[in-house]
Amino acid sequence: MGRKFISQKKQTREELFDSLVKNAIDFLDSSLDNLEKRPKNSIVDFYTSIELFLKARLMHEHWTLIISKPENANIDSFMVGDFHSVFLEDVIKRLKSIINEPLPESTIANFKALGEHRNQIVHFAHTDYSDIKATKAGVVVEQWSSWHHLHELIGTKWLDIFKVYSLEINRIHQRMMQQTEFIQARYDELEPKIKIEEKKGKKVIDCLHCKMHSGIITEEKKWGVDYNCMVCGVKDLAITPLNETIECSECNKEFKFFDSTVKHCPNCKVELTTKKLIELCENKYKEGDGWWEEGQAHIASCHECQNERPSVFFIDNLWSCVSCFDRGWQAICCPNCDEFVTGDMDKLKYFACHKCEDDVRRNMEADGF
Ligand SMILES: [Zn+2]
Ligand SMILES: [Zn+2]
Ligand SMILES: [Zn+2]
Ligand SMILES: [Zn+2]
Repeated sequence: MGRKFISQKKQTREELFDSLVKNAIDFLDSSLDNLEKRPKNSIVDFYTSIELFLKARLMHEHWTLIISKPENANIDSFMVGDFHSVFLEDVIKRLKSIINEPLPESTIANFKALGEHRNQIVHFAHTDYSDIKATKAGVVVEQWSSWHHLHELIGTKWLDIFKVYSLEINRIHQRMMQQTEFIQARYDELEPKIKIEEKKGKKVIDCLHCKMHSGIITEEKKWGVDYNCMVCGVKDLAITPLNETIECSECNKEFKFFDSTVKHCPNCKVELTTKKLIELCENKYKEGDGWWEEGQAHIASCHECQNERPSVFFIDNLWSCVSCFDRGWQAICCPNCDEFVTGDMDKLKYFACHKCEDDVRRNMEADGF
């Protein structure tokens, strides 16, 4: 059973999109308002907001996509908000298979974890729920890590669609970032555990998100380190800075571009979208690695962020994605669908790539595997 949106008067599609997004923003605000006194409500509201934003993205494509059974869609009931809407699981599937806007793996994992936490709170509200995450500091960091994923979508990837709301989104971002005292409290709470990890020989770095010295390194690679932050829960890759520069198309000055925090040309301040960066790189990086031959594709599709347009260039001796700034994967032509992609070599050789895996899985199921 999906939830129903009931509104009194009939709304146009544009109005409905607008009220979905405004609703989503309201839930973010109430989530932040609730932190102090009702941290559990805060989680529930935050999760609702994520679902609403994702539904808005679907709706932007077509209104029937947010209805649990599009085949029963009826425009008149839809306009008054009388319909069952989809849940996260289906939203994720539709984003990928219908509108070709797959969410990054790490984002899916994060949203699902938050969803489970929400369900525990909603369904076991009367039990003695004493999860550590139900403390204020715990809730803040949980929201922080989810916000990091949501903000990446609505503030960057889908910027064009949510542009009219960018003032509001920035305002929420500021509010979110002001929770530093909770982050500090969480750090104080966890510091002894972090010290123990260090004594056990683990290396710890400053987290790129919460800035605390709490990123436990899980793997060292030549292009950077993978870490899990004990304080804010973000799993990320801290890339070893790349000194490579590129020429700005507006002011012709060179600048260091391989850094997810660089959103503008440092000289003329022109906005640097993923699309723009790909275009700049297309002009500069025209060859692949040692296996590459003249005439073959030299820009790969990234399996990690699954940016629609190929975004992985061979930069400074490694395949490097200028959309999610991950590096170091192999790039090959998928033996199954022939797309030039990055990914795990074994999976590519014996199964499929991120572009064709759904089809391959469907065929296997049809064949009775
Ligand atoms: Zn952190
Ligand atoms: Zn410039
Ligand atoms: Zn990527
Ligand atoms: Zn493939």
